[in-house]
Amino acid sequence: MRRSGLVVHEVLRRAAAAVRPGVTTWELEEVADAAIRELHATSAFRGYRGFPCVLCVSVNEQVIHGIPSRKRVLRAGEIVSLDCGVVVDGYYADHAVTVMVGTPEQVPAPVRKLVEVTEQALADAIAQARVGAHLGDISRAVQDRAEQAGFSVVREFVGHGIGTHLHEDPQVPNYGAAGTGPKLRAGMVLAIEPMLNQGAPGVHVLPDGWTAVTSDGAASAHFEHTVAVTAEGPWVLTRP
Ligand code: MG
Ligand code: MG
Repeated sequence: MRRSGLVVHEVLRRAAAAVRPGVTTWELEEVADAAIRELHATSAFRGYRGFPCVLCVSVNEQVIHGIPSRKRVLRAGEIVSLDCGVVVDGYYADHAVTVMVGTPEQVPAPVRKLVEVTEQALADAIAQARVGAHLGDISRAVQDRAEQAGFSVVREFVGHGIGTHLHEDPQVPNYGAAGTGPKLRAGMVLAIEPMLNQGAPGVHVLPDGWTAVTSDGAASAHFEHTVAVTAEGPWVLTRP
């Protein structure tokens, strides 16, 4: 899983580096697709329940599962979530980042803050991925960071266990109570993925059957790492 984690990190690094005003979301898909092939991995997403691409690209009010499009041109001041999963020798890794299009100053300050807080929420959550902690400690860490900053947490989509399948038990909600849920043991691997909304928590899925958007149209941000619980502490498999 460390090998697949390093691959998906490199794939997203290249896709994120290609984000700039004027690029289409399909061009990001092409960058990721080429990187996965060059790195001798397989996409975990393309074909998963019929998803057509290797990358989920979700712009602004899109929360997750956006489908790359030749028609969608990125503009300065937007934010875009890139989510990718790969398989190496049967083992999965799942990783997502939200990046700004153009310079950070072109992104409205509250949206910039949303991106920063979501990344911090993931860091807070990872710090809870320790032997003997409870799953709810991870959930609580995300919710606390989000709500203390005035943002809300998406309920309808959650993180997950990961291993020889993309989605395994347990579910990892981004809301909950500390000290609840299963106890974490060494060897567990979790895809922790906070999704934070600038406005209300409600989301719905567009008629394409995939793209989740905020129901109030306000921005949403998403970060994800695949994290192993070890006796030495959390090991972020999707970070070099
Ligand atoms: Mg993902
Ligand atoms: Mg995931």
